[in-house]
Amino acid sequence: MGYIEPAPLKDRENPFEAMMSRFQVASQILGLEDEIYNVLKNPARQVIVSLPVTMDDGTIRVFEGYRVIHSTILGPSKGGIRFDVNVNLDEVKALAAWMTWKCAVVDIPYGGAKGGVACNPREMSAGEIERLMRAYTQAMADVFGPDRDIPAPDMGTGPREMAWLMDQFSRVQGMTTHAVVTGKPIVLGGSLGRTEATGRGVMVSAMAAMEKLKINPYKATCAVQGFGNVGSWAAKLLSERGLLVQSISDISGAYFNEKGIDIEAASKYREANKGSLEGFGGAQKISNDDLLTLPVDLLVPAATEDVITGQNAPNIKAKLIVEGANGPTSSKADNIINEKGIMVVPDILANAGGVTVSYFEWVQNRLGYKWTADRVNRRSDRIMKDAFINVYKTSKEYNVPMRIAAYMVAIDKVAKTYKYRGGY
Ligand code: GLU
Repeated sequence: MGYIEPAPLKDRENPFEAMMSRFQVASQILGLEDEIYNVLKNPARQVIVSLPVTMDDGTIRVFEGYRVIHSTILGPSKGGIRFDVNVNLDEVKALAAWMTWKCAVVDIPYGGAKGGVACNPREMSAGEIERLMRAYTQAMADVFGPDRDIPAPDMGTGPREMAWLMDQFSRVQGMTTHAVVTGKPIVLGGSLGRTEATGRGVMVSAMAAMEKLKINPYKATCAVQGFGNVGSWAAKLLSERGLLVQSISDISGAYFNEKGIDIEAASKYREANKGSLEGFGGAQKISNDDLLTLPVDLLVPAATEDVITGQNAPNIKAKLIVEGANGPTSSKADNIINEKGIMVVPDILANAGGVTVSYFEWVQNRLGYKWTADRVNRRSDRIMKDAFINVYKTSKEYNVPMRIAAYMVAIDKVAKTYKYRGGY
């Protein structure tokens, strides 16, 4: 999992407000009616649960768990579950709304949701995490369902946790229910290509953007902030496409090598070093802020929210930013970056490869059939490329940044669907 020191609380943007400020701008340009604006501005449902879990030392700790369903207008809600110390209701609300826009941008038949538990999985044993995940699933048994709300991994969770979720949900139902969750291990109905899907989508978006900016990938340099699932796959796939990845980072700091970092070696090192790059020899150590302001062509923030801020945005030198993380750029930073003429492929477009392959996993589960990796990749690449072109065209047509264009595409789709479905 990629990690960056969170900004001091007073400097941090409320993620829900950050989402709302872009939603407002896009809605105004679209001329969205008040009725629909009011429907979309609040989540459809918010569930908060208390989860007593027996810790390995015999004590019982009570964790707070959330599931926010932002919208089910386009279909059953979809979105990951985050296990992280910083999880709070406002963050989960913003992430849930981002899922609505993300699914709409790539045109898959889902609404948006997000879940989370405030906990530190780094300090918990596998057994404690398993009991927490089972308790959370049990508490959400009437929220989740293959046609209702379909969770997936997010920061701090992965295939192992999804397997526990699927098993616990299946026990409650009294039957095996694969399609209730995506991002499962392959043997348990997971899809080939799901693990690398978000990073792959970031690569496809970056290649499409570089084509528009006339940047030759074989002459381009890149920095990737965060070396978790998204960042490490994005770095690997971008370097395979010819880019020189000069810098990567994780919780232990940032690493820089002018001649390029051997991504394969870094991944292997991290795996052997309890998931940390600490002590990685192939590069010089720099600070996370140094990474963000390197004179590279492409910058990929792939860790968490609020990393590109009003403070560091003036110093950013990249020509292109492709957002692997959700909400890495604060709304204050948006204006500065736009003024500098840097193209940003926004999160709700750039990191939608993950949920796209989640959709394929759900489709395969329902068909009781398995696709080849090649079929998964070809189809997701096409969806990502088409979505990029659609957002790019909208940005040119309305003369707005790519982020606002992506919101416009998404909001327009959800609003049109809402009109057909109607309220009471
Ligand atoms: N957590 C991922 C995201 O933020 C994946 C969600 C999913 O696959 O449902 O896009």
